[in-house]
Amino acid sequence: MSGTIKHLWAFDAPTIAADCGLFQLGTGGTQLAVPIPTFLIEHGLGLLMFDSGLDSNAAGDPARAYGPLAEAFDIQFPEEHRLDTQLESIGFTTKDVRQIVISHLHFDHTGGLDLFPGAQGFIGADELRYARTPRALDAAMFREHDLDAASRIDWLEVPRGYDHDVFGDGSVTILSLPGHTLGTLGLQVRLPDGNHIVLTSDAAHLRSNIDQTTGMPLDVSNPDKENGLRKLKLLASRPDTTVWVNHDPDDWKLNRPDGRQIA
Ligand SMILES: [Zn+2]
Repeated sequence: MSGTIKHLWAFDAPTIAADCGLFQLGTGGTQLAVPIPTFLIEHGLGLLMFDSGLDSNAAGDPARAYGPLAEAFDIQFPEEHRLDTQLESIGFTTKDVRQIVISHLHFDHTGGLDLFPGAQGFIGADELRYARTPRALDAAMFREHDLDAASRIDWLEVPRGYDHDVFGDGSVTILSLPGHTLGTLGLQVRLPDGNHIVLTSDAAHLRSNIDQTTGMPLDVSNPDKENGLRKLKLLASRPDTTVWVNHDPDDWKLNRPDGRQIA
């Protein structure tokens, strides 16, 4: 159980902006631009993507794919941040990606799903069902185009409360972190040096969510969300583990000192 991945990339990310109150309950008044991350993991058994970011058709002209959302969220998506282009720049194509883990089905994580129709997908239990019949609360976060792309992927569902060791060697573990949506997932990765990185996805949006055990307004369950935040805080207490809050602009800078290649 002591396997490691070979490489980890955090691709150059488009950004969206919103009032900070959208990222943490009880705050507000400041506009915050956050990265929309996508991660690529190279393991001895193949390539795995964690999340798929925004629709490549939005690159260079976000309104083309997202209409009024582009302006509402001030989406910044330069052409060179396309996922397929970035994969090619490190010697891969979208067809080389054999597995994809989707943290949840909100539009800022699913825009590239149509690039990977042949990949084995992993998704949290109940996420697909909820995305088709959401509450009014977060209905605007699900995009029909992406749900159609999701319907063409062969999914394995990760049950609530179960963490899944993808390769059976301890190198990549899918973490059950429900609360933001019904099936939100994170990912724990063991790097070649033996240390771990935990990718939170939207189980936390900012570092302060974890510090204060406080979620955000669109969370479907506050108790579940808070349990997830406690889980992340425990993981961060390990000496060999870095918890990376994926949408947090400060974490993004801190964890990408040399740009997109992390390990
Ligand atoms: Zn998000």
